[in-house]
Amino acid sequence: MTVIGLDDTDSRERGMCTTFVAHRIASALEREGDGVERLLLVRLNPAVKHKTRGNAALAIHLAEDTAPEAAFDIARGVIERCAETADDRTNPGLVVAPHVAEQVPEAVASFAPEAITDHHSIEDAVSLADSTGYRHWGRGNGRGRIGALAAIGAWEALEDWTYETIAYREESRWGTPRAVDAESVRVAADTAYPTVWDTIDRGEDETVCVPHTPGPILHGIRGDDSEATKRVSSAIESEPVAERRTFVTNQGTDGHLRHADTLVEGRAYRLDGTVVTAPETRRGGHVFFDLEIGLEVGDGPHEESKTVACAAFEPTKRFRDRVRALRPGDRLTVCGELSRGTVKLEKFAVRRLVTTERVTPLCPDCDRTMESAGRGQGYRCRDCKTSTAEKSSRPLERDLEVGWYEVPPCARRHIAKPLVRGGFDAPVHPER
Ligand code: ATP
Repeated sequence: MTVIGLDDTDSRERGMCTTFVAHRIASALEREGDGVERLLLVRLNPAVKHKTRGNAALAIHLAEDTAPEAAFDIARGVIERCAETADDRTNPGLVVAPHVAEQVPEAVASFAPEAITDHHSIEDAVSLADSTGYRHWGRGNGRGRIGALAAIGAWEALEDWTYETIAYREESRWGTPRAVDAESVRVAADTAYPTVWDTIDRGEDETVCVPHTPGPILHGIRGDDSEATKRVSSAIESEPVAERRTFVTNQGTDGHLRHADTLVEGRAYRLDGTVVTAPETRRGGHVFFDLEIGLEVGDGPHEESKTVACAAFEPTKRFRDRVRALRPGDRLTVCGELSRGTVKLEKFAVRRLVTTERVTPLCPDCDRTMESAGRGQGYRCRDCKTSTAEKSSRPLERDLEVGWYEVPPCARRHIAKPLVRGGFDAPVHPER
């Protein structure tokens, strides 16, 4: 049995897509009579700057009797034919493991979560592939071997898996506008929701399953059950579907989020903290606030507090209204990537809301607002001669409830977990 890992075959300008190259390799092996057990579509650290779009890497799990040498030759042939190597930022990598996916050495299994939550160097990947005796090959700088090796380790390392059924276009149509009947997408999406998610964005009236990039994908249907994703994919009316393939994937799992002890740029975190500044909408419609967080110091119970900026950017659309509704004092858990000192919010949980505010007191006799009696001397009403030492407290109407809020489907990162999938530690307010 053999596992093929591959990555970095596509280019932003010229199209192509590593899922399609993997599908082509699987089809070529199937034509040779080899059994293909499953294809894995593994989303790696979304903060990696070399990525073309969604930082996807692929693994193909082959059945018992496939010789690794033959699989390697077929895969390399397909990659050389399909990969957009004319783009010098495309650096394909291929790694072939001569064992079942469950038998990866510990070092390969741990390489995968590190690739999802952190950064690796090309040397890390090449020396690990060498030390395991895996065959590997790369073009350009061969960076694709990082993703290829991570895709091989992922099956053992990860537990939460979802599905995506991808329909591919006829080659003659690549680069032309896609003909997909939006109403049929809406109907099909409704019949399978919430097992199938992120197919459409109802708030924006957008078919998020249909990409806008020039590659071979017509639509991709994501969900928790492969029969349901296939059914929805088949029910959509569109231009002819040339080929279809269902992938097992870590999309929609939040696998990129880590708990913080220190904060490092280019990693994504889940952070507990208190809002310390009122949310502010800046140029471009981006909304910012500061959060005070406690970071564990050493092994003991000590915490160091630190203030970190959080942002809901314009493309997160209506999510920004949720963020604007926050107030200083609210206790939150926020999730997102740390980039240039700012957490780019993907979701947050309200743990505790501020429900009262301190205001200048009213005069108990005339019911008008009192005035300050001077610094540190309380408040008074000049007319009625009444006075009071402190501000009074007044109940606050809040537009938020305790629980999780998220960006809408149109702004979802591939790896981010939609609230509708469940398993969260507080009530959820899912977007659809
Ligand atoms: P698409 O989504 O269109 O398939 P992509 O966004 O997956 O494209 P790639 O062209 O595959 O982008 O480029 C990502 C590159 O970054 C690959 O060479 C991959 O090996 C490398 N890479 C992935 N994860 C990491 C990581 N954690 N550390 C360092 N390099 C990484």
